Amino acid sequence: MSWKSWYPSWIHQMGDAVIEQAKSDYGGPKKDDLFPRDPEYRIVDVAGKGKGMIAKHRLARGQLIFSEAPLFLYNADIKPVGLAQFYRELPAPARAALLSLANSTLPSLLPASAPEAHLGRLIDVCDTNCFDISAVLEEEVLGIFLVGSRINHSCSPNTTRYFNGKRFEFRAVRTIEVGEEITITYIDAFRPCRERQAFLWKHWRFSCHCDACKLRGGKLVESDRRRMELKGLLRAWERHEAAGYFDRAMKLLEEEDYASGKAQYCTRLVKALQDKGDAEALQAWRPKLVEILTAERGPWSIE
Ligand SMILES: [Zn+2]
Repeated sequence: MSWKSWYPSWIHQMGDAVIEQAKSDYGGPKKDDLFPRDPEYRIVDVAGKGKGMIAKHRLARGQLIFSEAPLFLYNADIKPVGLAQFYRELPAPARAALLSLANSTLPSLLPASAPEAHLGRLIDVCDTNCFDISAVLEEEVLGIFLVGSRINHSCSPNTTRYFNGKRFEFRAVRTIEVGEEITITYIDAFRPCRERQAFLWKHWRFSCHCDACKLRGGKLVESDRRRMELKGLLRAWERHEAAGYFDRAMKLLEEEDYASGKAQYCTRLVKALQDKGDAEALQAWRPKLVEILTAERGPWSIE
């Protein structure tokens, strides 16, 4: 069975769990998604993290590292029996790839040979590796992405992920050197270190040792303060003078060496200036906004 032919029948099996627009919008993962000919990355063992992704070539800011269609999308409240049925529909390579992903839940007490243990493993792997794409599709939707799931977390990531409605695109947001680990953030990173660590442990059972989490003393206090202010700027945006807020956010991000968070401030600035009808200011800001949005979300994101 070809990779193209199994996917539509498989998604059809999802019944109510299917996201309607997904049926027509994408055709599922292509063979090249999983076995690309000359990818920009390598999947390797990373000390203390299991598998991870490193750069095979030097990557420039804004460069597309890879893109990937979801293996499947599902609603968070889907019944386990539904997941098991979908799993059985997958061809053997996809089943093996899915079950080889990390599982951060506690070990099952069931013997590995028990049928329920197999189902438990499937559910745990999906829980551990799903990407929430609800914001893009405006429905509660989780997606499984076999290659993207290999990227480890950092609270100061060098890569962004953005679902363009059909595929997840992973882009470098700063120069990434050969052999350097490619990282994304799994969480809302604009919160204090202690909260980030607690959240990561609760959901994925690991402690983060990124550069931001390694800070101590006054530097850690400063970092936490900057991140909380960045979060506050996002929340309080509409009540204040937009351009001043944007400049402040860019300054804080530079000081924090946080390369991947600028686009969300761009979209707020654009909206604020549009609401004000300030076409002149929008034109003046345009080059900077275009550079940031293109680098973080791709050329297609510019209207
Ligand atoms: Zn961290």
